Amino acid sequence: MVRSILMALVLSLPCYAQAWGFFAHQKINYYAVFLLPPEMLVFFKPQIDYLTAHSVDPDKRRYLLEQEGPRHYIDLDHYGPFPYTSLPRHWKTAVAACTEDSLVRYGIAPWWIQVMLERLTKAFMAKDSELILKTAAELGHYVADLHVPLHACSNHNGQLTGQQGIHGFWESRVPELLAEKEWDFLIGPANYYKDPLSLTWSRALQSAAAADTVLRLEKKLRSQFESDQVYAFEERNGQLTRQFSAAYTLAYNKLLNGMIERRMRASIEAVASFWLTAWANAGQPPLGSLGRDRHSQPLSDSTLLLWQQIDAAYKNNPIKGREHD
Ligand SMILES: [Zn+2]
Repeated sequence: MVRSILMALVLSLPCYAQAWGFFAHQKINYYAVFLLPPEMLVFFKPQIDYLTAHSVDPDKRRYLLEQEGPRHYIDLDHYGPFPYTSLPRHWKTAVAACTEDSLVRYGIAPWWIQVMLERLTKAFMAKDSELILKTAAELGHYVADLHVPLHACSNHNGQLTGQQGIHGFWESRVPELLAEKEWDFLIGPANYYKDPLSLTWSRALQSAAAADTVLRLEKKLRSQFESDQVYAFEERNGQLTRQFSAAYTLAYNKLLNGMIERRMRASIEAVASFWLTAWANAGQPPLGSLGRDRHSQPLSDSTLLLWQQIDAAYKNNPIKGREHD
């Protein structure tokens, strides 16, 4: 009886899941700052807390705006076998071939990154410090999301293969357990990418190619563990939460042979490089004085209002569109 009540309790408690997890998104934007050249560091480093905190705004916005969700993923397997040559890489040709409605239905992450990159370039040109920070923090989010294999695959939470919860397992639980303690985030300097769209697609294709491994190895591991060893209760943010057990998490990470650490490192490199690329394409405006202005000016009312709106939506609304669980 006690056992069955406990079991019912276990099954009723949710696993948690957010894209790359808030924890990983914050780490990615944070570490990306240190890859920047001194001319950018002078502005970005004093704002590292902002860039870290607001790395998750796009995920919160998914609770406010219907159109936000598809910006975070692309179901590449919808477009036939790898490397999905039926899908044109440029937005206009893709729209001509597939229609905009259809593209939106299966996710627009690679193209949305180009929109944000363009916005960041314009913000640098305008020397608008508030807009630079907001756009850089959010661009970092979208670039990082595309490095997650399950953001490039229609079986995005294992829902087609009885593996519900794998999304948060891969991108939240594993990094939260290991990133701080064991992973190495010393990465070489940011790169300038002459063709950012092609870099975006190469990272998207890497993600799509890894999705099968992410799913297959978890299935294999599940068959090697007793069912009562897969989950455990642990305290999280002051609440007892059911999640994948530490033993299961460590075993999965070992099977993946460093994949999540590699994808996180690649995310950091790409985020910093896209920030650098936008700045370079804007003509490398000097940012030193911008940093000084930034400290003397409070945030605008419209920005503060926007944050209140997305925070309230995140706390009170159901998600609009795709959920991982
Ligand atoms: Zn996201």
